[in-house]
Amino acid sequence: MLFSELAETFDRIEAEPSRLGMTSILAGFLRNVDPGDVPYVVYLSQGKLHPDFHPMVLGMSDKLVIRAIAATVGTKESKVVDMVVKEGDPGTAAEKLIKGKKQMTLFSDPLTLDRVVKSLTAIEEAEGKDSQDKKTKILSNMLHDSNPIEARYLCRIVTGRMRVGAGTMTILDALAEAFAGKDDRPEIERAFNITCDLGLVAKTIGEGGMEAVSKIKVSIGSPLKVMLAERLRSIPEVVERLGGKCAMEYKYDGIRVQAHIKKDSVILYSRRLEDLTPNFPDVALSLREHCGFEEAIVEGECVAVDTETGNMLPFQEVTHRRKKHGISDAIRDYPVRIFLFDMLYADGKDMTPEPYLDRRSAIESGFKISDNIQMTAMKIVSSSEEGQRFFDEAVSARCEGIMAKSISEDSVYRAGSRGFLWIKYKKDYQQALVDSFDLAVVGAFYGMGKRAGKYGALLMAAYDQDTDRFGTACKLGTGFDDEFLDRLPEMLEPHISQDKPPSVDAQMVPDVWFNPYIVLEVTGAEISVSPIHTAAAGYVKDDSGLGIRFPRFTGKVRDDKDPTECTTYSELADIYSLQEHDSDGLA
Ligand code: AMP
Repeated sequence: MLFSELAETFDRIEAEPSRLGMTSILAGFLRNVDPGDVPYVVYLSQGKLHPDFHPMVLGMSDKLVIRAIAATVGTKESKVVDMVVKEGDPGTAAEKLIKGKKQMTLFSDPLTLDRVVKSLTAIEEAEGKDSQDKKTKILSNMLHDSNPIEARYLCRIVTGRMRVGAGTMTILDALAEAFAGKDDRPEIERAFNITCDLGLVAKTIGEGGMEAVSKIKVSIGSPLKVMLAERLRSIPEVVERLGGKCAMEYKYDGIRVQAHIKKDSVILYSRRLEDLTPNFPDVALSLREHCGFEEAIVEGECVAVDTETGNMLPFQEVTHRRKKHGISDAIRDYPVRIFLFDMLYADGKDMTPEPYLDRRSAIESGFKISDNIQMTAMKIVSSSEEGQRFFDEAVSARCEGIMAKSISEDSVYRAGSRGFLWIKYKKDYQQALVDSFDLAVVGAFYGMGKRAGKYGALLMAAYDQDTDRFGTACKLGTGFDDEFLDRLPEMLEPHISQDKPPSVDAQMVPDVWFNPYIVLEVTGAEISVSPIHTAAAGYVKDDSGLGIRFPRFTGKVRDDKDPTECTTYSELADIYSLQEHDSDGLA
């Protein structure tokens, strides 16, 4: 297949505003692609060669890309730099410069998809002293044989800025439309949720249809999307919703880890599918030493502890372990303990369809409890009073609150889904504040006065699972300390977008746009109907969204959370209706 066919498809998707439209363009294209090429079409549409959890990433610096463009079109690097500054993106600059050059250049070797994949792999794998030259040369060779649109996407792919607007949900829709039926969509999503590998799902459906997809299983080394909890506003509601009897566990305030344990290796994945093993080598080692299974996948929360008193420490302490540099000092200075709460796989057996209590007993029987590996504190409660007592105990043990879990026969582990099999109840809920929200930064406003020259406020968005889009919920300007404000530009820089990102719905126009990536925790006084904000538009009132009033940054950067794990439109709408319920004096 020629790469130009794929590049033209990306171009059409990028110009298409509606998700349905994008889906049908992609599905139409996938239907006519050789099955062997299907995974690459899918990976490249997200600017990658591998699934998200793969450690290798393409990430050529703008400097090298500029050098490659200059070499290809035979111009000075400074001219390319000017064009990049003007266009705001090396991809568009390459497109324009190659357009000007096209008449003079004779294409030599055709740019096939196969050649692009091989060249990108070589760029990714280039190592050593002359690796920069190698990368530049490989890119320049491809650009030499590219048309302007191909050049635009090649430069975006190698710099990791490939955002045509087709998110994961759109790609799953397109796979269903191209190779199966609408009714098969949940099964396709299940396969993705237990493997986090769109290319694998695409390859399987392209080659073997739905029969093959239904055989995709949980396997060690492929992280599962994590199961998430719903929320309710009071302990009696929680207990009632779970049938009058449920398990309650402490809700620890740490970093969630999914451990894939084999006899000779352990990988710890974050909720965002990053490899956290280098940050928690002590936890990885203990898990391996204390695991009685040949192979297992377990989940737990890593919490910082004061080794002298045994007390748990706040979330901020464990985040010292997330840094890239000085990690050996952090391991010494911030000891952690992992509290295990779920088991998803054990010695060839997919545990996700098993009921909660069976999964928990499997951990207890397979792991030796030690100082730094413990089970979450758990109690079966049969009344609100018992629940309240357990909650009070959790709070005095310095936990955030409780996680109540269904103990019914169908209390399976639902990868990637938020539902009422798990319900969280936090101490914040007892205060005037409704809850904390996890919101993605999609824009920034330049500061004034004391904040001149920095970002003064951020435009924050919630996520809509149904449309795979982000809608704004507040402008956040409170709760930042000076150190955080100083760090912000560097933190946000890689996510700058020249225009409003395709996945964002907003009426407010910030000074700078960002692709949703950074997630911050925000509290608010209440949720109100908002004519300006676009989150949950139409949920409560036509032509209005929902906004968070008096938002305040809590100090927590949720770099363990993916933007698609942000507070959703339906959660905002639920919280809004709970508030209404309260103000009726009924709750
Ligand atoms: P939230 O981030 O507020 O949606 O709460 C869900 C998170 O709580 C999970 O992703 C875990 O990181 C964390 N957590 C803490 N304790 C538990 C527990 N006992 N069971 C499940 N999750 C827990």
